Amino acid sequence: MQSMFANLTAIRSRREMRIKVALATLGIVAVTDGVDALVNLYTQPDRIWPSFIQTTLIAAAMSLLFLGLLARSNLRLFELKERFETLALTDIQTGLLNRRGFFASLDRVKASGADMTLGVIDIDHFKRINDTYGHLVGDYVIAEVGRSLREGMGAPHFVGRVGGEEFALALNGMSLGEAAGAADRLRTRLQDIGGSRLPPGLKVTASVGLARIGEDEVMSGYARADKALYEAKRRGRNLTISAELDLGDNVVALSLPSGATRRDTN
Ligand code: GH3
Ligand code: MG
Ligand code: MG
Repeated sequence: MQSMFANLTAIRSRREMRIKVALATLGIVAVTDGVDALVNLYTQPDRIWPSFIQTTLIAAAMSLLFLGLLARSNLRLFELKERFETLALTDIQTGLLNRRGFFASLDRVKASGADMTLGVIDIDHFKRINDTYGHLVGDYVIAEVGRSLREGMGAPHFVGRVGGEEFALALNGMSLGEAAGAADRLRTRLQDIGGSRLPPGLKVTASVGLARIGEDEVMSGYARADKALYEAKRRGRNLTISAELDLGDNVVALSLPSGATRRDTN
């Protein structure tokens, strides 16, 4: 009986709710009928069948009512928990994973042993956009960059907003060259965001730093991607740079991936 109620506390869908309530009701009706029939056998044998029907109906109705209410409130609690967990991992402005969500996903993929390339994307001269056009335009640019990245990147890859105007992407199951090409295409697409809705003269570009995550820790891979990003900024922005894995922490020699070309900076 205890496990029957314990089952009713963990309900994740309406289908599961119906099945569990039906099974628990069957169990309760069977036990109640059994006890009722046993008592009647010794006290009033001629009432066994009428009493059986009456007990079945009452036990079934009461169980369905109370277990149904209990299961429904537990399902609601589960749905709320799911929604709060999703909100806690989502960036409200862009709908992307937030920093916590991105690194949680990264840890999960890394634990599965998948090959990964990590990219850090930072909007170029964003402060200048804010200062020139105002923070509302800046917010709009961030939302549009988020949208462009989300639309340009499907599973098994994923993208998150890890800071103010900084985004991160995880490219799974690609060689460094393929990942660099994909990241650079994403970066190039950013130049088309907003269309005519952006103020005339406002051109959005971004720089990307890439690093391969192998046996090393996620955060050291992130630090190398960040150094590569810094190098892209230093070389004039609007650029994708990858830090080669075998350089470890010493990102001195940086390579331009195939397909990545220097473009005009704003
Ligand atoms: P760089 O090319 O070197 O990256 O220069 P930058 O101007 O993009 O970088 P910097 O770090 O100097 O400025 C980033 C600015 O982004 C500062 C901060 O006020 C602004 N910012 C961060 N989050 C938001 C946001 O959500 N909305 C708006 N409008 N601005 C933001
Ligand atoms: Mg920036
Ligand atoms: Mg930044």
